Amino acid sequence: MEIKVIQADDDQKKPKPADESQLGFGSIFTDHMFLMEYEAGRGWFDARIEPYRELSIDPAAMALHYGQEIFEGLKAYRGQDDSIYLFRARDNIIRMNHSAARLCMPEVDVDFVMDAMKKLILLDKDWIPRTEGTSLYVRPTMLATEPHLGVRPANNYLFFIILSSVGAYYKEGLNPVKIWVEDKYVRAAIGGTGEAKTAGNYAASLLAAEEAKEKGFTQVLWLDAAERKYVEEVGTMNMFFVINDEVITAPLTGSILPGITRDSVIQILKGWGWKVSERSLTIDEVIGAAKEGSLKEAFGTGTAAVISPVGQITYKGEDHVVAGGKMGELSQKLYDEIVGLQYAEREDTRGWVERIG
Ligand SMILES: *Cc1c(COP(=O)(O)O)cnc(C)c1O
Repeated sequence: MEIKVIQADDDQKKPKPADESQLGFGSIFTDHMFLMEYEAGRGWFDARIEPYRELSIDPAAMALHYGQEIFEGLKAYRGQDDSIYLFRARDNIIRMNHSAARLCMPEVDVDFVMDAMKKLILLDKDWIPRTEGTSLYVRPTMLATEPHLGVRPANNYLFFIILSSVGAYYKEGLNPVKIWVEDKYVRAAIGGTGEAKTAGNYAASLLAAEEAKEKGFTQVLWLDAAERKYVEEVGTMNMFFVINDEVITAPLTGSILPGITRDSVIQILKGWGWKVSERSLTIDEVIGAAKEGSLKEAFGTGTAAVISPVGQITYKGEDHVVAGGKMGELSQKLYDEIVGLQYAEREDTRGWVERIG
């Protein structure tokens, strides 16, 4: 399939952010977007790059009523040599196909979408900021567009990619966050859609996050849906706990999003000789370790924040300080390594980094 390119006229182009230190996250969009359509029996068609614009969809579009919507999140980085790099981007598109299968949505051709994504990023490459810690966030999205009321998989879909110039994800930057252990609401149950990046999971998480925010917390740590006993993940990050010399993260049993940063952290730590366990970990073990001082560090991992150190865990009304409320040594080392790889400043021995222009 050919990709038609309609470039924005000069008067359609938006002013670029003047102050890169004020970028924030997810509110500045570039001049172009990629789109393609799908129809059952026909497959994907009409692939094109167009000026960024509002979408027009039927009010009966099935995504709006029954939630067939999936997305991905990855970044393009500008290196010091001014080259543009992607980090494990293919894995995002493969994961999107897993999400599609779970939601009865059509899969995409990974090579084709990679190609379209690179074309779009290069067309809008002037939007990739230069300041340290900034990047271009890439958001591939798919939704059901068939106008129909009645629950069944749709016959028509729209796939698009939009781009956003971003700064640091959290206002605190790399400062440790305070997390609230949620023992009332749940995010996802085994057998549900927790391992898919689909809109409904995030809608389901909002109330707990709002209540935690009112109490002064940045993130919610989810426990398993069946027993509220095992730690799972936080908002949009997988969680790691360093207890004595073991680094522990929850296993991928279906209720957790299989993070690419999570996988990178596991591989890097193993390469450094650490004992890494993907095993069930009870909240009681975490709190017990915090009390006796064997919980050395805790951190979240995800594309947006990379490594987000945890400085406090609050469970059943008790506050537990982690790593003295500071960024731990291992968290910092991992952050430096991953960011170093992403900006092509450190040697990539795993084939994770791709220079695209
Ligand atoms: C996207 C996401 C993550 C992190 O995945 P990465 O591939 O590392 O960005 C973790 N948990 C949830 C719920 C997510 O949506």
